Amino acid sequence: MARIDFYDGSSAHAHEARVFVQDGAIIIHANGHGYTIVASEVEPTLSTPNARRFIHLPHHMALEFHDNADAEHLLDELNAAHLKPMRWFDKHYRSWSFISSAFAVFVVLIAAIYLFVLPAASDAIAQRLPADSLNIMSQSVITELESSGYVKASTLSATRQAELLAKFNALKKPDTSVPFTLHFFSAPDIGPNAFALPSGDVVLLDELVNVANSDAQILGVLSHELGHVAHRHTMRNIVQSGIVSFAVSAWLDDYGNTLLNLGASTILSQKYSRDFEREADDYAIKMMKMNNLSPAELADLFVLMEKQQTESNSNTTESEESSIIDLLQSHPPTPERIATLRAAAQTK
Ligand SMILES: [Zn+2]
Repeated sequence: MARIDFYDGSSAHAHEARVFVQDGAIIIHANGHGYTIVASEVEPTLSTPNARRFIHLPHHMALEFHDNADAEHLLDELNAAHLKPMRWFDKHYRSWSFISSAFAVFVVLIAAIYLFVLPAASDAIAQRLPADSLNIMSQSVITELESSGYVKASTLSATRQAELLAKFNALKKPDTSVPFTLHFFSAPDIGPNAFALPSGDVVLLDELVNVANSDAQILGVLSHELGHVAHRHTMRNIVQSGIVSFAVSAWLDDYGNTLLNLGASTILSQKYSRDFEREADDYAIKMMKMNNLSPAELADLFVLMEKQQTESNSNTTESEESSIIDLLQSHPPTPERIATLRAAAQTK
C-alpha cells in the first residue's frame, strides 16, 4: 500500500494515515487520533491520470491517495450504494467508447430538439400570439412589399375584384372563426402566386388570376391559403426560424424591431414544409367539396402555375431570379400533391 495522507480540516498539514474499512465505515488513524467516517459521508473525486485522488470527508477533512489503486480498493470494500453511479462513471468516462456514445447521445438530443421540440414550441407560441401582434406584423409586411416595389396596385377592375371576393365570401368554410381579408396586387416579377399572412390577410396576385382557366381554380387557391391561415403556418415558420435570433435580441432588449423585421423577411423568403402544404391542400379539398367544387381544379391550376413559372424563369436574369424564386417556392406543386388533389376529386 502506497502512502495515504490525511488532512484534519483545521490545518493544511498532511499527516500520514493508516486507513481501513470496518462495519461499513472508514477508520482513519493519523497524528495520534482515530476517526470513524460512515460510508454516506464519503465523497471521492474522479480519478485522473496526472493528479492524486482525494476522498472528501465531513468537516473539511480529506484523504489523499498517492496510488489510485488504494483508493479503489478502499471504495470496493466500503461498497457504498450512493457511490455506485459515480464509480461507474469514473471507470468509463475517459474511454473512447464512452466519449463516442456520449457524443452520439448529444447529437441525437440536438436532432430531437430541432425536429420535435422546436416545431412543437413554435406551434404552441404561434397559437397563443395575440391577434394584435399578428395584424401589426402582417401590415408591416404588406407595407414593405409595396414600398420595396415587390408588388404594385392591381390592374384588375374593381368589378372583377368585387366578383372574386363575393364568390369567395359565399363559400361555406370548414371553420368560420378563421380570419380572412383579400388583397389584390400585381407583381409581374413574381408571377402567378398567392400567399397568406398570419393575420388572415391573403395576397392574390393578378398574374395568378390571369393564368387561371376558371374562377373555381382561384377559389381553390384561396381555400388553400385559408388552410395556411387556419393552421397558422406562416406564424409557425416565423417563430421557428426566429426563435434563436429572437431570444438573442430579446436579451439585447431590441425585440420589437426584430419581430417586425423577422416577420417581413421570413414571409418574403418562406418555404412552407411539405407537411404544411399537405395540411393546406387537405383544408382546400375539404372546403372545395363542401361547396361542390372539384379539387381537381386546384391541381389544374398548380400545373398552369408551374408551366408559367418555367417559362418566366427562362426569361429572367440571374440577379432577378433569386428574389423571385424565393416567393414562388412557397408553393412547390409537387406531382405527389397534384395526384392527391386529383384522387380526392374522385371520392365523395
Ligand atoms: Zn401553400
